[in-house]
Amino acid sequence: MSNLLVNTRDQQFVLFEQLGIEKLFESEAFKDFTKDDLLMIMNEAEKLAVNVLAPTFKEGDEEGCHIKDGIVTVPKCFHEPFKKFCEGGWLNPMDSPDVGGQGIPAAVGFANIEIFGAANYAFMMYPGLTHGAASLIHSYGTEEQKNKYMYRTFSGEWTGTMCLTEPGAGSDVGALKTTAKRLPDGRFLITGTKCFISAGDHDLTPNIIHPVLARIEGDPAGTKGISIFIVPKVTVNDDGSLGEPNDVKCGGIEHKMGIKGSATATLNFGEDGKCIGELLGNERDGIKIMFQMMNEARIGTGMQGLVSASAAFEHAVAYAKERVQSVPVWEMKNPDAKAVAIIKHPDVRRKLLWMKSHVEGLRSLCYFTAYCLDMSKVSKTEEEKANWEGFLDLMTPVVKAYTTDKGLLVCSMAMDVYGGYGYCQEYPVEQYMRDEKIATIYEGTNGIQALDLVGRKLGQRKGANVMNLFGVIQKNIAKAKTNPELAKYAVLLEEASNACIELTMFFAQSGKSGDFLLPVLNACKFLEIFGDVIVGHFLIEAAQTAAGKLDAIYEANGASSIGKQKGLQRSDKEAAFYSGRIASAKFFANDILTTVKARCESVKMAEKSPLEITDEAFAW
Ligand SMILES: Cc1cc2nc3c(=O)[nH]c(=O)nc-3n(C[C@H](O)[C@H](O)[C@H](O)COP(=O)(O)OP(=O)(O)OC[C@H]3O[C@@H](n4cnc5c(N)ncnc54)[C@H](O)[C@@H]3O)c2cc1C
Repeated sequence: MSNLLVNTRDQQFVLFEQLGIEKLFESEAFKDFTKDDLLMIMNEAEKLAVNVLAPTFKEGDEEGCHIKDGIVTVPKCFHEPFKKFCEGGWLNPMDSPDVGGQGIPAAVGFANIEIFGAANYAFMMYPGLTHGAASLIHSYGTEEQKNKYMYRTFSGEWTGTMCLTEPGAGSDVGALKTTAKRLPDGRFLITGTKCFISAGDHDLTPNIIHPVLARIEGDPAGTKGISIFIVPKVTVNDDGSLGEPNDVKCGGIEHKMGIKGSATATLNFGEDGKCIGELLGNERDGIKIMFQMMNEARIGTGMQGLVSASAAFEHAVAYAKERVQSVPVWEMKNPDAKAVAIIKHPDVRRKLLWMKSHVEGLRSLCYFTAYCLDMSKVSKTEEEKANWEGFLDLMTPVVKAYTTDKGLLVCSMAMDVYGGYGYCQEYPVEQYMRDEKIATIYEGTNGIQALDLVGRKLGQRKGANVMNLFGVIQKNIAKAKTNPELAKYAVLLEEASNACIELTMFFAQSGKSGDFLLPVLNACKFLEIFGDVIVGHFLIEAAQTAAGKLDAIYEANGASSIGKQKGLQRSDKEAAFYSGRIASAKFFANDILTTVKARCESVKMAEKSPLEITDEAFAW
């Protein structure tokens, strides 16, 4: 099937040839799956994405969400696809069958999310948040709460949200003002306003389950005093039927740059003093509990960076092959020269390879993170489990921030490839770029993610997670050095990786010597460097696999000369694919990894001008 959303061949490459997820089938949790089963599931996901979700991409953006007389409506074209999506079991295929899932590996679940999101990310906000809310109740709810709320949320009969942000509490969640007052029956009266709540109100389903952070009266200030409550939009009777509306009113929806099909609502809880909430988990455990959903959402938001980049890149390549403009530079003096497709121009080729290498690297990064989840489930020892969970913790802020920052740049570069047409709504890249921008902001801005990486994640388990990662990278380098074609690129990865290790140590030392502001000031720079090294590692690892497969194709076809090999790269799709993977690794190593050491040195020079400049000196 041909689609301009995601390179499905590359998806399969990452899953089966790079990560080797078939290893999972040896475990109890995944023993009932075969590679063919998973390919079939991915094929079905692709059909749904191409035939059902993609047609709503432009229409959903143009129609957007509306509010009239307090009723919020989503684009009309979302209703039928939402039903089909849920009926097809796509809301929670990674969960266990006892909650309606199919127990598929997360790595494959992520591949499906990539193609669904590339078809329409604004649409995917509804199932994404719904899954997160249901999972919270699954992990922390009582049996009664599960029966009352969870099953119908997992099935998509109702949807879910995530209610943290308030006008005065954005990055600083601990500053929230929403309160919870005890009722004699053990439930709580919730009062407060949450803003920017995705899927906060809409007409897709008759009920919405809001997990809401609030402070029980008398509990301490800051994050330690926060609890979490299940607050349904409509109350649910003991027999499961819907009761009275629960005093949750939508105060308005945002008019925003992108993801226009996703309703971003201000929600007023308890305007009439009648909003009922049920405590989820223990009192004052709200942040700990919500972190489960936030981590899921952070990785999901990272996926948003990948999906936008994937689709924008696929479109840019197709456009570059069709758009004819300018004679090639080497024919400039030939008056009879003909204009060529823009893909022939060196600068366009460089841009396309920049995008291709980033998209592929981001795909490996995201799927590897999902694979960590799978491996943590099937680990045989506590230590092994802790190592996989450690990778997952370490990767979460990187996936969120690095993927979304680079995803946005890929969209921007795709627009450059289109020239002026890319800036216009006739072509989809401007929407991909508008939809993508929010991903660098919500779920904790990328600045906050970088602080999480530098301030918490690097030091977790006394630095074992990060050192394990560098150990894996070093093994990959040693192996790549034995491949004559890749050896010099492996050296570039080694230099970049060593510089990054030194910077990590330097940060640890700065913290110990009291100069903790230096890592804080440079956290974003560090996250980018760290991400570059990880992506460079994945690309070189993948290139080694690709090189082996390519050699086998050459051998099978008797292609020993460069000329014959080039010919195969044109005529044989698999040869083209593997040679493209090698090109990505070489390009990324040369273009990006060579800059890592200089950027590390620049941080170590401890430039403090952003701290020293007075507020007054910033602007006239
Ligand atoms: C479309 C959309 C959908 C959203 N969906 C949801 C949702 O479903 N649920 C939900 O709860 N929220 C949601 N949000 C809110 C979103 O998570 C917040 O906007 C985001 O966390 C930032 O908070 P803020 O906007 O108040 O910015 P602020 O916190 O005011 O931050 C402004 C700037 O200051 C920086 N900053 C703040 N504190 C620090 C610090 N300590 N150190 C360094 N820099 C700092 C930030 O990085 C940012 O650059 C959504 C927002 C939007 C726009």
